[in-house]
Amino acid sequence: MVVRGAGPRGGWRGGAPRPLGIDFRLYDPAPDASGGRVAPLVVGAFDDRRALERFAADVDVVTFDWENVPADSLRALRGRAAVRPPARALAVSQDRLAEKRIFRRLGIPTAPFAAVNSLAGLRRAVARVGLPGVLKTRRLGYDGKGQAWLHRRADIGAAWGALGGRSLIYEARVPFQRELSLLSVRGADGAIVHYPLAENRHEQGILRLTSAPYRDRALQAAAESHLEALLARLRYVGVLGVEFFEAEGRLVANETAARVHNSGHWTIEGSVTSQFENHVRALSGLPLGGTAPRGHAAMVNFIGRLPAAADVLAVPGAHLHDYEKSPRPGRKVGHATLVATSARARDREARRLLELGRREAGELTQ
Ligand code: AMP
Repeated sequence: MVVRGAGPRGGWRGGAPRPLGIDFRLYDPAPDASGGRVAPLVVGAFDDRRALERFAADVDVVTFDWENVPADSLRALRGRAAVRPPARALAVSQDRLAEKRIFRRLGIPTAPFAAVNSLAGLRRAVARVGLPGVLKTRRLGYDGKGQAWLHRRADIGAAWGALGGRSLIYEARVPFQRELSLLSVRGADGAIVHYPLAENRHEQGILRLTSAPYRDRALQAAAESHLEALLARLRYVGVLGVEFFEAEGRLVANETAARVHNSGHWTIEGSVTSQFENHVRALSGLPLGGTAPRGHAAMVNFIGRLPAAADVLAVPGAHLHDYEKSPRPGRKVGHATLVATSARARDREARRLLELGRREAGELTQ
């Protein structure tokens, strides 16, 4: 099995495949990829077909945990190893326009949108979709990067100046109350399990806090039916995440993640089976594990620099996941998960963890 960049995420670090008796190795362009500390690392470029083929010849299944692995590199491996999730699912998740189109085809509500390839096209998109709205790069945008907000027509020039020249999408602003995500898992035999909805808080476009379960039966049922439609259409195997806005009691889909997802890290200690283990079970044709929460869980991302382990672990119910990355402003360097017996206790302790993270990030940028 191949897991690109498998080191940084807590679940791989715990060696999710190993307890199941499954051997895994990693392929990464960086010789110092932190995944190299948990499994044999093969260093190669993502466009080095020969190296990729040699690598795939030794494994049964290839997967990925980074959004920007070129989908064509995965396509080239077909016939040598099973690629799960399929390359098409990754290609869709890499292109905001393809994502929105598949939502629309499947009847999944999404923000009004239009493709933009020129300044005149942006003017037309704004006239059609309306204001306020957000102009985004179709590809390679994440954590709020590659986006420009438009509040009035006069903002068109500046937004085009910031992002023009690339393939873009313009979306109407969704006046949402909160951001939610659902992670679902489809096995090789077509069996599907869903985690409970999680609530996500972003700051400057970066996920800071996930709390789960977010209990709302109608929204859970709607989200499950949207994910089931996507999983079937994409002939998906593995963990699929979808981020939604909740607006006036409805779900509006924003984007997909064709991989284990940051908003699912709470499952490491907070669920009967972690998203990492369920991903491996799905890829390997094993029965999927239970997805019930073990209590009221939260996940706090540490951005920039990790607080001292002793400070994190002094918070009741907290577990630390250190990605062993060097400090850098804006970089996710680790996270804490938290399991509590009530939502109130969970929220109180999560605030302490957020405060620790903020203090550390603040000192780094001073
Ligand atoms: P994204 O990269 O699409 O996840 O966008 C990053 C963040 O920007 C989201 O988590 C939202 O908080 C916000 N955002 C993106 N698109 C929209 C939209 N159409 N309406 C309102 N907020 C948005």
